[in-house]
Amino acid sequence: MAMLGFYGGTFDPIHQGHLQSALYVQQYCQLDRLELIPCHIPPHRAHPGVSSEHRAAMVRLAIAPYPQLALNVIELEKNSPSYTVETLELLRAKYPNDTLLFVIGMDSLTQFHSWFRYRDILKLCHLLVCQRPGYQPDSIETKALLAEHQLQAVSDLRSKTHGGIVILPNPMLDVSATAIRKSLQQSTNSNADALQIDAVAAYILEHQLYQV
Ligand code: ATP
Repeated sequence: MAMLGFYGGTFDPIHQGHLQSALYVQQYCQLDRLELIPCHIPPHRAHPGVSSEHRAAMVRLAIAPYPQLALNVIELEKNSPSYTVETLELLRAKYPNDTLLFVIGMDSLTQFHSWFRYRDILKLCHLLVCQRPGYQPDSIETKALLAEHQLQAVSDLRSKTHGGIVILPNPMLDVSATAIRKSLQQSTNSNADALQIDAVAAYILEHQLYQV
């Protein structure tokens, strides 16, 4: 039974918070592979200003040095909102017997109870949660979710194909795509600049993304 990780996001743009989380999770959880899935049309937020093709190209550049990471364009091939549950249904049909692990940040866990058909997501995969500065699993909804699904160790996930949540002891990086977009628009020399990925920063410059 393979351990297959999937990391969804807007990646608008991909930054060190995403990349370091992906590398950490793949190694810490001994995943057979980890695929990054840029969303095409996010259902829960404004449409990204930068096209799906550019966002996927930036993911491809960022992960190029790391053969353990791959780009998955499954959501780009559909012309409808990218609901995670539907993506996972397609992945489960493709990998009926493997353990599927969906990677999210702590901010996403705190909103997870509002995701479309979130209970079905946990019938399709496990959740691996990366901690993120400023976010705690302390709301009533998140505590209830964890009471039902949390497991303490990644090894506990291996015996089941879905339904567990593990909060990982990852090193935290204080960066967001919002902060990076803001610093690019304002041409400031903020902390967010340092947390960009060099090849991605060059791509942004070349294509004049996020300038206005
Ligand atoms: P934005 O600021 O535009 O909301 P973002 O930086 O949160 O973007 P997304 O593409 O929306 O990035 O996030 C994709 C996934 O990566 C989410 O599950 C999010 O929780 C996680 N993530 C993003 N940044 C970090 C970080 N610094 N540490 C841990 N997880 C992160």
